[in-house]
Amino acid sequence: MSQIRNIVILTGAGISAESGIDTFRSAGGLWEQHRVEDVATPEAFGRDPNLVLRFYDMRRAAIQEKLPNAAHFALAELDTNWKGNLLIVTQNVDDLHTRAGARRVLHMHGEHLKAWCTSCDVRSYWRGPLLDRPPCPVCQARTLRPDVVWFGEMPYRMGEIYGALREADLFVSIGTSGAVYPAAGFVQNARELGIQTLELNLERSQGSALFHETRLGPATEVVPAWVAEMIK
Ligand SMILES: [Zn+2]
Repeated sequence: MSQIRNIVILTGAGISAESGIDTFRSAGGLWEQHRVEDVATPEAFGRDPNLVLRFYDMRRAAIQEKLPNAAHFALAELDTNWKGNLLIVTQNVDDLHTRAGARRVLHMHGEHLKAWCTSCDVRSYWRGPLLDRPPCPVCQARTLRPDVVWFGEMPYRMGEIYGALREADLFVSIGTSGAVYPAAGFVQNARELGIQTLELNLERSQGSALFHETRLGPATEVVPAWVAEMIK
């Protein structure tokens, strides 16, 4: 991989799992007798906003108790030392990449630690609950919602992601199931562009066959090992 200059990295739930952040799927798919899909949609928010806000208040509180792991720290080290372009596109809504020290991070599915005001469209850093309808820090309207992309909503900054892929020499997918589009399509896009593709995952994913190379193992082992190769 000596000619690699520009890298796009996609991370998913698998990189945060060893930090104790469970996914919707690994949690059994249920929360207080509700299917998680039913608390993570704009329709659910319209129907029962208190239910949805309580669910996200709980998740927002939970992630603040978690810590970045060796995989997050390894990617932060790569970010710090890599001279070419690098973009860490994450499907995760936790802040563990950033807390590990990574700077070039794009949250395509939003962030737990932000609230989005649907009156003034400003996104504010947010740590506390939203259930009690706090005022927007900018316009004072009590119209804040989690700044998380719900099922049926468009992921953020797709144009930027595709732009970075067009410039990239290497696409790396870490800890993603290959099941959620549009992220699942990035590897196909990378192949069409003639980019090298590498998958780092706990087990083979639905998209594994599309990668030039797959390395299997816990993220806290395979990610630091790969980063060490890249910045040696
Ligand atoms: Zn506002």
